[in-house]
Amino acid sequence: MKVSIDQEACIGCGACVALCDAVFRLIDELGKAEVIPGADCDAAGCCKEAAESCPVGVIIVEE
Ligand code: SF4
Repeated sequence: MKVSIDQEACIGCGACVALCDAVFRLIDELGKAEVIPGADCDAAGCCKEAAESCPVGVIIVEE
């Protein structure tokens, strides 16, 4: 499973980080989230929930 964020459109709400901090983190200077390099969505098991919780729908999960 692959995950990415359309960072331009991220509003930095932190929902993805709250639900799935093994995969997502906030970049404080930008006020945006990013996928932690090397993070493993399958092992973390929370990428889909994070994507569903994103209020602006910018988390893309590919099987
Ligand atoms: S849930 Fe969506 S809008 Fe909120 S920080 Fe994560 S990617 Fe950005």
